Amino acid sequence: MDAEVKGKITGVAASEGVAVGPVFVHAPGELEPERENISEDAVEDELARFQGAVEAVVKKLSETAEGLRESGSEKEAGIFDAQIEMAEDPEVQEGVEERVKNLESPEVAVISVGEEYATLFAEMEDEYMAARADDVRDVASQIAAELMGHEATGLSALETPSVILARSLAPSDTARIPKGIALAFVTAEGSRTSHVSIMARSMGIPAVVGVGPDLEEAFEAETVAVDGGEGYAAVDPDPDTVAEFERKQERIEEEKAALEEYKHVEAHTGDGQRIEVSANLGSAEGAEDALGWGAEGVGLFRTEFLFMERPKLPSEEEQYEAYREMAQAFGEKPVIIRTLDVGGDKDLPGVDQPEEENPFLGWRGIRMCLDVPELFKPQLRAILRAASHGNLKMMFPMIVDAREVRRAKEIFEECRRELEEEGAETGSVEVGIMVETPAAVLCASEIASEISFFSIGTNDLVQYTLAADRGNERLRHLQGADHPAVLKLIEETCRAAREAGIWVGMCGEAAADPELIPKLVEMGVTELSMSAPSIPRAKKVVSEI
Ligand code: PEP
Ligand code: MG
Repeated sequence: MDAEVKGKITGVAASEGVAVGPVFVHAPGELEPERENISEDAVEDELARFQGAVEAVVKKLSETAEGLRESGSEKEAGIFDAQIEMAEDPEVQEGVEERVKNLESPEVAVISVGEEYATLFAEMEDEYMAARADDVRDVASQIAAELMGHEATGLSALETPSVILARSLAPSDTARIPKGIALAFVTAEGSRTSHVSIMARSMGIPAVVGVGPDLEEAFEAETVAVDGGEGYAAVDPDPDTVAEFERKQERIEEEKAALEEYKHVEAHTGDGQRIEVSANLGSAEGAEDALGWGAEGVGLFRTEFLFMERPKLPSEEEQYEAYREMAQAFGEKPVIIRTLDVGGDKDLPGVDQPEEENPFLGWRGIRMCLDVPELFKPQLRAILRAASHGNLKMMFPMIVDAREVRRAKEIFEECRRELEEEGAETGSVEVGIMVETPAAVLCASEIASEISFFSIGTNDLVQYTLAADRGNERLRHLQGADHPAVLKLIEETCRAAREAGIWVGMCGEAAADPELIPKLVEMGVTELSMSAPSIPRAKKVVSEI
């Protein structure tokens, strides 16, 4: 239908579903502190005021988190927990205090420090981390608003169910919208992993983000129709378009109802092949939600978020807690922890990283870990210790040959010996690798003799095979795992695995592609891992093979 849609604006398909409704434009004013500076004798009082404002904001955030938790929204509550951590972060606080001691007003200081951190986040190439920039800004402006005696701007007064348009929406904005009032979100900024997208998906609200300046076309409109699955909105749609959206809505409802029965089944193909369908997660916060969607485990636990959401490297103890929490949440179900996968494009606090011309071809993933044992060993020790609480497996990212695998395993065994000598409790951990480089496929037979499983990371495998940056909008036609070159590599990986008697999973985006799943299964992939809401559909596709 989209070819004929008039007044069409397009963006990123951030949350599936369609909605038609009246427009509400959320355009909060910028915070403009009246005072730039303070006098020297006011420093102590201003520092106390700053502390008071932080406490007030933390109190409000805690109340919001608690309210969300009571209504069963654990995942959304986690967003506010993270904001509390940011508000209380000692480095942020020290940064503000230093500026106040240099006679800057605390409201100006907190906005500046917030902006410094937001810029750091925004520069990270990882989409998820870049999206955290909005959170830092949001927290800083809440503290500044508190200092200035304003209520932070919000949508809490909205009474009519509406499609909400905004430059961006912070978690504190979405959380203030009364239940049932937001029909859809359309934002100028944002990516699939921005919080507005995460919130929209977990609220079951359609969302289109990253529309850019075209969004302004919709500001004067009365009605907007949003298709969050296709990533576009129609401004002031004509009656035919509205009717088309209504029909689509009915089809979506029917499909949702039909998928319900697949959530908690084990997926088998017609000839009895069992395919495990698991979730990709970045923290234990998503565990409950993933289990609700029918996750049979975690096929990819992206541990880098744990490292990048804080100003310093997480200690072994902090990592142990995080991995244990995840292991316990899934009980006997397998949880595959991917060891740290950051690179030259991401500023990892606590590690000296060089400027690189081609960060995606640079010092990332296992390369960095093998070079910096102080980074790698605490993670491996934490995994070994947490393994005594559940069914943990581990995989190394960005592998190119068997030598890297052997070296990583040696360090792992060294950690096990050290822990045993210390009398610490450890568990057994199956070791695998991510197949993300053509080199790993070419060396698959030799690598397979060292490990228990392969997990194909198509997001990177596609970019390295087709020499097409995974984030480059212009290269969309070169970003599909259905390219014959990529399919050959998947097939070869499966062949080498079969010969060595090990299993193959897939945790790249392609694992959720209904068109591709039958081919993957035919080639020999026996585990598919994806974002949790895609699980029921994948199980259905497998059952129909
Ligand atoms: C991949 O490359 O397919 C993958 C799952 O890893 P990430 O997206 O975290 O790079
Ligand atoms: Mg990858």
